[in-house]
Amino acid sequence: MLNKLSRQKEHALSRWLLTITPFAAALFALAFALFLIQTAVKEDQATSVALEQDLLWQKQALKNRLDNLNTQLNGLAEVIATEGFASANFTGRSLSILQDSPEVMSLEYMDETGQERWRYPQYRPDFLPEQKHRNLVAARSAVLASQDAHFSSVILGKQNVPLVALVIPVRLSFNGRHTLLAMINLNTLLQQQVPWWIAQRYQITLNQNGQQIASKFDRNLDPTQLSESIQFDLEPNQFELKATVYKQKRSWQQHLLTLVVATLSILMIGSTWALRRHIKERQKVEGQLRQETAMREAMENSLVTGIRAMDKDGHLIYINRAFCEMVGYSYEALIGKSQIMPYWPPEDLDRCTAVYRAILSGRAEPTGYQMRFMRANGERFDVRLYAAKLIDGDGQHTGWISSIYDITELQRERDALQASHERFVTVLNGLDAAVSVSDASSGEMLLTNRQFDRAFSIPDWHGRYCALPYVARRKGAPIDTEWFDAFRGHWYQVKSRSSVWVDGSEVWLEIATDITALKNAQERERLQNEQLQQTTRLISMGEMASSLAHELNQPLAAIASYATGCRNVLSQAEPNIGQLDQAIEKMAAQAKRAGKIISGIREFVQRRAPHRKPCEIAELVDTVRTLLAAEIAKQQIKLSISDVTQLPPISADPVMLEQVMFNLMKNAIEAMHNTPAAERSLALTITPSDDILSFVISDRGTGIAPEQMEQLFKPFFTTKNTGMGMGLNICRSIIEHHQGRLWVEANPGGGSRFIFTLPLPQDNLAYEP
Ligand code: ADP
Repeated sequence: MLNKLSRQKEHALSRWLLTITPFAAALFALAFALFLIQTAVKEDQATSVALEQDLLWQKQALKNRLDNLNTQLNGLAEVIATEGFASANFTGRSLSILQDSPEVMSLEYMDETGQERWRYPQYRPDFLPEQKHRNLVAARSAVLASQDAHFSSVILGKQNVPLVALVIPVRLSFNGRHTLLAMINLNTLLQQQVPWWIAQRYQITLNQNGQQIASKFDRNLDPTQLSESIQFDLEPNQFELKATVYKQKRSWQQHLLTLVVATLSILMIGSTWALRRHIKERQKVEGQLRQETAMREAMENSLVTGIRAMDKDGHLIYINRAFCEMVGYSYEALIGKSQIMPYWPPEDLDRCTAVYRAILSGRAEPTGYQMRFMRANGERFDVRLYAAKLIDGDGQHTGWISSIYDITELQRERDALQASHERFVTVLNGLDAAVSVSDASSGEMLLTNRQFDRAFSIPDWHGRYCALPYVARRKGAPIDTEWFDAFRGHWYQVKSRSSVWVDGSEVWLEIATDITALKNAQERERLQNEQLQQTTRLISMGEMASSLAHELNQPLAAIASYATGCRNVLSQAEPNIGQLDQAIEKMAAQAKRAGKIISGIREFVQRRAPHRKPCEIAELVDTVRTLLAAEIAKQQIKLSISDVTQLPPISADPVMLEQVMFNLMKNAIEAMHNTPAAERSLALTITPSDDILSFVISDRGTGIAPEQMEQLFKPFFTTKNTGMGMGLNICRSIIEHHQGRLWVEANPGGGSRFIFTLPLPQDNLAYEP
């Protein structure tokens, strides 16, 4: 949380820096620019003020100079008036004026006619105007009129020399119309009167009507736009004295300063830009780093594996959340700790110390350690610990990092699994049945129990193949059958089914229960039954005697009748041989029938082991019908038998099957004693299906209470006074011996129906000993 806060602060700071730095740079540049502008403005203002002052000063200087000249010339005029122009005073003064005033090109003294009386210099320079120049004439006239000094209008002499004449009245006592005239070259005036310090700063011109008349300037300097003008009147001339400021040559210090500041600005902007880029880059990297850190944090926090790092001296320098939760100590409580750690259980200190030292010395087992740690609440728990070197970003080995897995639950599950496996094995081995699982495709045995190994003498079966020829395996419904181990002389009840093994592969699961003892008991029972059967048959014999007598009576009566017929034929004179032959044939047939009845009875009574052979159902049914015909007729029972001519032959002991049918039908007849004669009906229905043949014997007799339905098949259960209660028991034994089933159910509409099934030959898989 603290980290997050300081990170946010840092982020805000760098954002602030990012914004403020270019802003500061811009501010600095702007301030410098303003400074320069202000300096320039100040300079301009100063220049402007100085210009004004200098111009005033210059005007004053020119004025003073001209006033002075005027005064001097007036003095000279005085000398002429008093001493004459030939006087030494005049000559001296005039020469002094000319020498002191280079702007004065010439001095002339003229009489009232304008005639030149004296002049200096003697020769007249070219550029000087004629005496009669109208400007001069005008000026002289003005002087004469006012008797005051006057300037002429500007005269441009040859080569454009700007000239002005200063005309002074010479007041002679006798004539007041003489004049003194000084030609002043305005250019020279400026050259002389503009001092160097002004000429260095300004271009000075004298203008009239916008036209430049005279000037003083430095050809090496360029004038600027900054100028000032001032009225400078020399009546009648209205001049304008103008000063134009020259471009200032900056000092090297100024240049240096500008250079330094400009360089600084560029450097600053450049470094700001670089800094900004750097900050942005850093922010990007920081963002990535933050994301990576957040992801690492999330990963570490989501880990259930404890992570612990130690420096080379064994002090804890890092612990993740999972480890804190595992041991129940806070981060602060663990960080910096070294031997002995608070989560080492006192009883395991030696082991913990040994592992700790092994890690620090770099000899940690690569396969890890199984250890026991202690939680803050004292609870112990098992961990698996793996250690590795801690290498920092520079590839330096800085300590050791360990990952710790809480394996308590795993251990518990493993123990539970082990216990469950042991229970399973115990139960499996405790079974009397031999259990085996073999791979469906390869036949390899995957699991057997002790009983299996013992029964088939293959204790070390691993990798072997199941070679036991139990039964032909079959997918779909489980197989439940018996199998005789001829080699060891044991009978087994074998249950075989296809199943899916733990790895998803298909296997055969087979359970073989040793039923040898049961089989022996059954055999004994069968023998007993046979003896009982014998007895039953003997009893039945008595009962059947009368019906047999009746039955035999028919063929015998027929034979007797045919014999009488034969006699009658023979007593004739010519006995009809054909008739005789017919009668004898019929007699033989009747005798055969009687013989069959008798032999049937003999077989019925005879005690013998069953033997199977292919039998036609129709013949069996016929025998039984014959045996019961008399009784059925006596009881006025309606007998119906389904079509038996199309039935497939079966492999069975015919006499035994006849006995079963006989018993069941006889019971049915007896059950209908109290049924009204009209309702007495007995039906035998035989239907084949895929692999079995079903026999149904239904009656309209007393019926059987549901709770008695199984009891009937127990030996000696009878409801009859003279009954033995063995009939149904024997029947079931016979049917089961033929791999069939026999049961009873209520006949819809009243009475009962006994059903038995027999397998058809093609599906008879049982082993016949
Ligand atoms: P027994 O005929 O000597 O009594 P059984 O084993 O043949 O011996 O029959 C047992 C008993 O089952 C009979 O006593 C009779 O009560 C009953 N039983 C057999 N068949 C039928 C039948 N079709 N209807 C009603 N009861 C029957």
